[in-house]
Formats: sequence, C-alpha cells, structure tokens
Amino acid sequence: MPEAHVNSYYAATLNDTTRYPRLEGTVKADVAVVGGGFSGVATALTMAERGYRVALVEEHRVGWGASGRNGGQMIYGLSGESNLVRQLGEPGRHMLREIRYRGHDIIEERIARYGIECDLVRGWMEAAARSKHMAGIREHYEEMCASGHADHIELVERDGIRDVLGTDAYHGGFIDRRSGHLHPLNLCLGEARAAAGHGAMIFEESPATRIEGGAKPFVETAHGRIEAAHVVIGGGAGHPFQRGPLWGLTLPTGSYIICTAPIDEGLARRLNPQSLAVADSNVVLDYFRMTKDRRMLFGGRCNYTNRDPGDLGKTMKPRLVSVFPELRDVAVDYAWGGRIDIVITRIPAVGRLEPNVYYMQGYCGHGVNATHIAAEIVSDAICGTAEKLDLFEKIRHIPMPVGAAGNYLLALGMLYYRMKDML
Ligand SMILES: Cc1cc2nc3c(=O)[nH]c(=O)nc-3n(C[C@H](O)[C@H](O)[C@H](O)COP(=O)(O)OP(=O)(O)OC[C@H]3O[C@@H](n4cnc5c(N)ncnc54)[C@H](O)[C@@H]3O)c2cc1C
Repeated sequence: MPEAHVNSYYAATLNDTTRYPRLEGTVKADVAVVGGGFSGVATALTMAERGYRVALVEEHRVGWGASGRNGGQMIYGLSGESNLVRQLGEPGRHMLREIRYRGHDIIEERIARYGIECDLVRGWMEAAARSKHMAGIREHYEEMCASGHADHIELVERDGIRDVLGTDAYHGGFIDRRSGHLHPLNLCLGEARAAAGHGAMIFEESPATRIEGGAKPFVETAHGRIEAAHVVIGGGAGHPFQRGPLWGLTLPTGSYIICTAPIDEGLARRLNPQSLAVADSNVVLDYFRMTKDRRMLFGGRCNYTNRDPGDLGKTMKPRLVSVFPELRDVAVDYAWGGRIDIVITRIPAVGRLEPNVYYMQGYCGHGVNATHIAAEIVSDAICGTAEKLDLFEKIRHIPMPVGAAGNYLLALGMLYYRMKDML
C-alpha cells in the first residue's frame, strides 16, 4: 500500500494528490536534500529557482511530518529570540530585524507566483492567559513599535478582548496583522510542485540511510543514491543523522490538535469574528484558529515525555470547551498529533556538519515562518553568502541525554513551567 498522510483535517482537504516516485539507481545533482517538510521543500524550491539541480528524498510523503500536521499559524520571528540576542548581541539583534518576517514574505510571494491555494488569512494574536502576562505583552508591543512595526500591530486590553474573541478566558493580548494562518499541508505540497516545475527531482518513500560529505558527497537510500556537491538535512526530529553538534540537540515532543465539525456562521462570527490565529501566553500553550470551512482547529497539550495520550479527542475537548463553552456539544471530526523538535535554548539550530553538509532544525513549534527563513539562509550559504549562517553557528546550544532520559528531563523542566503557568 502506498503511504498516506496521517488522518487529519489537512489530509482530508489536500488539493494536490501528486505522487513522487521512489529513488531507484543513482542520480546526480548540485544539491541533495533530505526531508520533504518545509525545511527541505523550501530549500529545494529556493535552490531550483536559482538554477541549481536539486534532488530531494522524503522517507514517507511530502508534508508527512510536522509540516503537514501543524496548527497552521504563521507567526513572525523565531523561537528563542531573547536567547539569540543575549548570545549574539547587536549583530544578532540586527539579523533578527532583517529576518523576522522574511518567511512570511517568501510564503506570500510563492502563493502568488505559483498559485498555491492554502487558505492564507492574515491576523495572529498572542492572548494573555494570566493577567500578569499583560506586562510582558505590553513591553513586547512597545519593542515592536520601536522596531518599526507600529503600522500592523495592536495592543488589546482586558476590556477590549470581547471585541476580538468570544471568550472571557483571556486578559488582553497583542495582535499582529502581518502574521496569520494557512493550510500547511497544501502549502508544502504546493511548494514541492513548484520545485518540481523548476526541475527539482523529488522522491517519496525513500528514507536516506546514509549521508556523506567530504570530497564526494552523497545521500544513500535502500534503492538509490544521490551524488551531489552539497547535502542539506532538512528538519530533524527523529532521523538518524544527529551527529556532531546535533547530538542530543533536539528532543521530539508530542503536540496534538483536534478539529471540530463545521460550526454555523453566526457562532463562528461570535467566537472569532476576525478569524485570528490565536496562541495563548503560557509556556505550555494552547492555540486555535478557524478553518476555511468554519471548523475550530484547536491544539496544545505538549507531551514532553514523547508518549501519545490514548484518546486525543477526549483529552483535548475539555481544553477547547474551557476557552469556548459554546462548543461543548460540537462534534470533533479529526484528532491527530505530531512531533515538535524542542531545543533547550529554544533557538533554531542552523549550520554545517561539514563544509558541504548543512542542517536546520529545532524550531520549537514555531516553524512555518522559521523553516522558510532557515531554508533561505542555508541556500544563501550554498550560493556563497554565509554571513547569517556564520552567526547561527556561533550560538552555543545545550545537548541533552538522547532518548527517553532526555525526554523525562525535559518533562520535569516543563512541569515547573506548567505549574508557573497555573499560578
Ligand atoms: C502538532 C503541531 C503543531 C504545530 N503548530 C505550529 C504552528 O501553528 N505554527 C508554527 O509555526 N509551527 C508549528 N509547528 C511546528 C512546525 O510544524 C515545524 O517546526 C515545521 O513543520 C518543521 O518542518 P521541518 O521540515 O523541519 O520538519 P518536518 O515537517 O517534520 O519534515 C521532516 C521530514 O523529514 C522526513 N524524514 C525523516 N527522516 C528521514 C530520512 N532518513 N530520509 C528522508 N526523509 C526523512 C520526515 O518524514 C519528514 O517529512 C507545529 C508542530 C506540530 C507537530
């Protein structure tokens, strides 16, 4: 049986059923890419647009991993920004100003250029889950205004929350009109289609089993081999190439989503009149948005032990109802989970294992925008402009014990934050 995407709202509404062949035999390319999520596909498309010969292998199907399962929230910036600035100082602050919205620009340009239908809606909100979180949100709002973003951000105080959301669960928030939400699987498939249109060779059901750099770089699968000048490891959680600086760097962590049956127009307008994507301000956060066909897509409940709960629908529904009691009786049509790649510093890891073997991973649940930023940084480095990659390589990460021990340590750390969230 050919592989299918995980059973989700996204798989049920995908608009591209292209199947790519399995890699058989040897192909030659300038760039070999491992992984058919946003990291790999966005790199393949960028390099193919620039005239490079690209070959990409995906273990399952394009968009099979986190990129085809996520909350679809297109959020500005990177995770771990304050740590990045603390480590890199002014050059880091300057780089962040330059790249913060770069993923949005790339995605929007591609949607327009390649006619990718992925339901992009602008408007994203961080909602204060505790009244004390408003101090940080106000401070962040001021910082964003000072960095030139005043024209597209808004501060919402407690007394204004009912104008933007039909719930009393929040104490205010911060709205960014340049961020928003989209159908991530259709975006990923659309970018793969665009890359193939530029001549990129894409192979599904072709897990890479070996990667080598050096004088004659290659990527090997059970049935084939790509010989290339450069190798890019796109994404990371779970595959077997975590060596050197990647050893113990990212820990796969479960995150889960439910998607309700369509709700009627009046109720949808009451609950989320501006169709905002919303993430709450807790460290262990919940997030939600409306789909194009007026379903509430609600995610959260990170499981840092990396063990999935039994009945996702039952586990997640009470969280949804605690925010929107009016959805108590609405059916849950889909429930699924995926793996977020958590890095202790929260800063995405982008760099080189060898001069011609690149990696990008560890977006900490903040990857729709950030994968596209990382893909461009790596592509620029391959093309000879490595300033940003050099900066990312200066970041000192903290390795964790690999496997279950690492996840239990992380779970323990996050328990502390969860208790803080509750206070
Ligand atoms: C439930 C959930 C909700 C999320 N919500 C959001 C959100 O709302 N907003 C946001 O910005 N981010 C969100 N994220 C995070 C975001 O989805 C990820 O950061 C992003 O998709 C990472 O993309 P990637 O390409 O690096 O990894 P992936 O999409 O996981 O792609 C990696 C690919 O590599 C393939 N692969 C692995 N090993 C091999 C091998 N040996 N050979 C070939 N291929 C291989 C996998 O099959 C996979 O398809 C969420 C994540 C999850 C799980």
